[in-house]
Amino acid sequence: MDTPTGTRRLSSPFDLRPNAPRLVLKFSEVSLPAHSLDTPLEDHFGPIMKGHEVGGTAVDAVRASPQTGVDEWREYVAGGGAALVAITITFPINKTMFRQQVHNISPAEAVRQLRVEGGMHLYRGLLSPLLMKISTQSIMFGSYFQYSRLIQEHTHLTPTYAKLMGAVLAGVSEACMMPLERVQVLMQDSKFHTQFRNTPHALYSIRVYGLREYYRGLSAILLRNCPGNVIFFGSRERIKAALPDTWTTGTYASNISDFFGGAFLGALISTMFYPVNVTKTHLQLQVGGPFLQFRAVFKMLLEERGLRGMFRGVHINYTRSFLSWGIINVSYENLSHLLRHALAEIMSWTRLTIPFSTAPASLDLSPILQGIRGLPIIHTESYVCRLPPGHRFQMRKFRGVFQSLVQDRVIDAKTQVIEPLRASVELAGLAHDTQYVERFYAGETSREEQRRTGFEWSHGLASRVRYETGGTVLSTRISLERGLSCSTGGGTHHAGPDYGSGYCLINDIAVAAMNLIRNDPNFKVLIIDLDVHQGDGTALIFENEPRVFTLSVHAEKNFPFRKQKSDLDLGLEDGLQDNEYLQVLQEHIPVVLDQFRPDFVLYDAGVDVHEADALGRLKLSDNGLWRRDMFILKECMKRGVPTSTVIGGGYDKDLEVLSRRHSIIHRAAIKIHSQMQ
Ligand SMILES: [Zn+2]
Repeated sequence: MDTPTGTRRLSSPFDLRPNAPRLVLKFSEVSLPAHSLDTPLEDHFGPIMKGHEVGGTAVDAVRASPQTGVDEWREYVAGGGAALVAITITFPINKTMFRQQVHNISPAEAVRQLRVEGGMHLYRGLLSPLLMKISTQSIMFGSYFQYSRLIQEHTHLTPTYAKLMGAVLAGVSEACMMPLERVQVLMQDSKFHTQFRNTPHALYSIRVYGLREYYRGLSAILLRNCPGNVIFFGSRERIKAALPDTWTTGTYASNISDFFGGAFLGALISTMFYPVNVTKTHLQLQVGGPFLQFRAVFKMLLEERGLRGMFRGVHINYTRSFLSWGIINVSYENLSHLLRHALAEIMSWTRLTIPFSTAPASLDLSPILQGIRGLPIIHTESYVCRLPPGHRFQMRKFRGVFQSLVQDRVIDAKTQVIEPLRASVELAGLAHDTQYVERFYAGETSREEQRRTGFEWSHGLASRVRYETGGTVLSTRISLERGLSCSTGGGTHHAGPDYGSGYCLINDIAVAAMNLIRNDPNFKVLIIDLDVHQGDGTALIFENEPRVFTLSVHAEKNFPFRKQKSDLDLGLEDGLQDNEYLQVLQEHIPVVLDQFRPDFVLYDAGVDVHEADALGRLKLSDNGLWRRDMFILKECMKRGVPTSTVIGGGYDKDLEVLSRRHSIIHRAAIKIHSQMQ
């Protein structure tokens, strides 16, 4: 049998930094009774209480601060701005097309008519389409992203269905601006030239017919907007995804592909819905009188003109839409991008909108902590997002851990839970390349980059990652006050300076450590990473940072196959069991703690070292995990080092089993915490 020395290999020699003065702690140093390490895990699992639901209100009651604003205003502004650019260029074409549609005449005849009427009449009615296009396009883009995000965050729909619903709802919302489109139809027809002086006059005049008059033709508009949006937004992303990365990266190439992508879709959709639009125009050319059924008018026009007649003017319409939607799409992308950067700039000038989790280290947490009794648990339902069915990553485990703790009455959801906020670009940018963070938040990472992370990007995923990062940062802030706190998420240690990898998008541990050291040149952080996989991203981020010591204990033959250099790597042989594993920890952890003398410990309690784990190569039992976590926490606490824990990796098809396995760290922390009082 191998001796413990033979079962591990040191990848790097000890490299311990000179001592620094010890942090003065607010909680008393603790010494735990020796037997606590040997207490079997089962003693700390209460009976499972079924049927006890965990509501959101208890968590909301201790929410740290109000929810910060969402980011979709950019999409609204970019959508409106894109419309402004497009309409300025395409207005004359639009007018010619309209004449043809109404009077069933050739393009040449339409141009001749407009020329006879003179220049003033050509630009008659510009205000109305301008306002209409700006407002509807703004609502279309903005509300689509907002609805999609809200649906993904608050329901269990897949991203695809959430986007589909978002597109339909955006189509309905656009219809709010219908009175402007309604008046535009009246203003463009010569029949009404004498009746209405200008757009406001027309809007004012038709009030005598009641509110319903403004919404004449609503059914046609919904019939056009909703399916149109579904096709547009659904295909827009697919077209982008289908193009090779070289076509969508770089300003020149991406502008061209955005133009043609938008142009193609706009032309296709407007052609498909052309007969609907013709019918809508006819419905709206009437002022006052009975409200005709869409279906009846459509049938009448079809009989009168025939199918080909219904498409008269479609050529010029096709050209107009091609140009218009090409311009809209390319302007939208550029404006949205510009605003995103402008926002990041403004955020760095003023601190008005920076959420709690990014606030300077001096922020007073005491009002929040006053209501917290026992070990602070950092948890939010927003750690969870929807993944495609059958995805290997057990997304619901974050909720599962929390529910397991509440059900077993290990924690009190009313007095022990603090909800984090989303990490800003600035905060995540402490450990990552800011451009990478911005691209990830905005869903602009390439397919290749996404493939490496194991997740397809979605609004829900980006949101989840931001909450998780905010959670770990919040936990460190709380541990500085209270000595110990635990998040129900975190441990995304494969994410590197400018990339995501292996289910990790933003390295929450690295962000939290950077946040701890950023205002104090003497502050030292030890990262104890016991996930079965090497903390390669963390190692790379802190490669040249002497104030952060990265310690990774992992299965040497496991992912990542190209390892990075931590300050101390303990690469273990496959199949290691409880006692051998614990012996490795007992040999090294106290030495590192005593020699590096950290002011803070971040502990990644990954459970993929478990014998039943789908991705692990070690053979720890539940009890082994309990002893491991008790050992680490005890070593940190007895030295008075504030500690935060994250749950790290864990892979098991059985959600409940996995959630309980992950909850061992919280149970151990509560045990230790109770002995500290
Ligand atoms: Zn892992």
